[in-house]
Amino acid sequence: MSSFNFSQWPPALSDAQLESLTHHAATYALSHGLTYLPPIPTQPPVPSSAIHAPISLLPAPVPRSLFERAQSLQSVYNTLYARIATNDEFLDREMGAEVGAGKADEFVRTLWQGWKEIREEGIAQPLHLGLFRSDYLLHTGGEDGGLGLKQVEFNTISSSFGPLSERAAAMHRYLHALTDYYGVSPDLRPENFPPNNTTSGLANGLAEAHKAYNAKGNASILFVVQPNERNVFDQRWLEYELLEKHSIRVVRQTFDELASSATLNPESRVLQITLPTPPGSSSSPSPIEISTIYFRAGYVPTDFPTPAHYTTRFLLERSRAIKCPTIPLQLAGGKKVQEALSQPGAVEKFFGGPEAEHAKELRETWMRMWALDAPNTPLSLPAEADHKSGEPLGTALARANAMSLVLKPQREGGGNNIYKSDIPQFLETLSPQDRQAWIAMELIVPPAGVGGYLVRAGGMNGGAGALPEKTVRSETISELGIFGWALFGKEKVVEEQGNVGWLMRTKGVESNEGGVAAGFSVLDSVVLV
Ligand code: ADP
Ligand code: MG
Ligand code: MG
Repeated sequence: MSSFNFSQWPPALSDAQLESLTHHAATYALSHGLTYLPPIPTQPPVPSSAIHAPISLLPAPVPRSLFERAQSLQSVYNTLYARIATNDEFLDREMGAEVGAGKADEFVRTLWQGWKEIREEGIAQPLHLGLFRSDYLLHTGGEDGGLGLKQVEFNTISSSFGPLSERAAAMHRYLHALTDYYGVSPDLRPENFPPNNTTSGLANGLAEAHKAYNAKGNASILFVVQPNERNVFDQRWLEYELLEKHSIRVVRQTFDELASSATLNPESRVLQITLPTPPGSSSSPSPIEISTIYFRAGYVPTDFPTPAHYTTRFLLERSRAIKCPTIPLQLAGGKKVQEALSQPGAVEKFFGGPEAEHAKELRETWMRMWALDAPNTPLSLPAEADHKSGEPLGTALARANAMSLVLKPQREGGGNNIYKSDIPQFLETLSPQDRQAWIAMELIVPPAGVGGYLVRAGGMNGGAGALPEKTVRSETISELGIFGWALFGKEKVVEEQGNVGWLMRTKGVESNEGGVAAGFSVLDSVVLV
């Protein structure tokens, strides 16, 4: 393990150097599509301006051995989640409406019930596609005092920032090539900047699914997107790659649009999209067959404002198109699943015999987790005297150890967790039923004193619109995401790729959460130390 001193990072830069780097970084980002749509939209539907994504001026340090371990684990994670998504019994137990998290969580329940109905009718498409991102923090709290790698979560739907993170890494390489970063650090050398070709890696996954669908004639890939999405360029880069490298066209549609554009052939279960013809056009609209559906929407309840939105989601699920993800694969990404896997003997059920070593490797990346409704847990944590009568041990443990915990519901997209001192009060608001939808997880403790120079575009934060471009030096926490994909069915993994790139996101230590789009954090890259 390297003896890198995290508290000495970043190296000092003068105001003039920072100003110059900021200028070059912002210009590079704008010219290379490391961008968002502005918070106040220009007249839809045609955008006329973009702002650069929030970015870091210097890459964030990661020990080489831990970075390589995260990369080498990705194939194991791909396989694990493929096996979970095809294990109906496991998913029914953990996420279902009868005994699992779906009992307490309406969103999970609705998805699960739709899936159950569909599998009872018979599944038209046996293959699933997962574009995954496994997220990690460096952890200082290991037994041996050394740095470890601990998983925050595993994303199975809308795993974003692949293309933008590729461009953030390229931007840091450019700044180095241009300025040598003024010679301020011996670590800032090209051989310490790992390659990051996420766009081609993720597009390959989509293209493999498209091929496996084996359309007789022309078919396109459908991107299901949110209305008013600002992070469109991250998605567009995948579209351009699919068209330019694979000659595959992409159709973008919101759930609202799909309600009228999508039709399912009741016999063949072929999904077709019919786009409205432009006004004045004489040709009649011709339906487009869909080979693969890539969901960049559908991971939050607000994507389903009415029951009709779920009907549309289920129509897509019923189709013969390959879904990225299917409902079971989406459910497999639940925090409840992460917690259930961590229980003694659980992940071992997915990796037995000659694969037992994999279960061990994965466990080394996990913090302790438990369910708030757990009647007992094998953990030796002080439950203390405030164990209220009739309360499950899981809840008592969460109260007694609040300051070292985060509570998580079955949600994605940031901003849903409860931290530390907020926990005891929050527990009072949960009914016994509610507890079933929440897990407790020990907090990962990243290296202290590490910082970064964070740049946000004018108007980025909170959409105020009038904020100036700003570079701040901040104490930071950096979260590493590793991308991978798998195309799989019940019997086997058809193909998987565990090394398709990575994401580094950096947030100021003051914020518990780090959503880039929400403005709490910036896109960063990695310097291996
Ligand atoms: P989401 O699916 O909403 O992104 P996460 O599990 O990734 O949910 O949690 C959101 C953020 O909360 C993470 O990006 C990280 O900053 C923080 N976080 C989550 N779990 C932990 C943990 N165990 N220790 C420290 N920080 C955490
Ligand atoms: Mg997530
Ligand atoms: Mg997350």
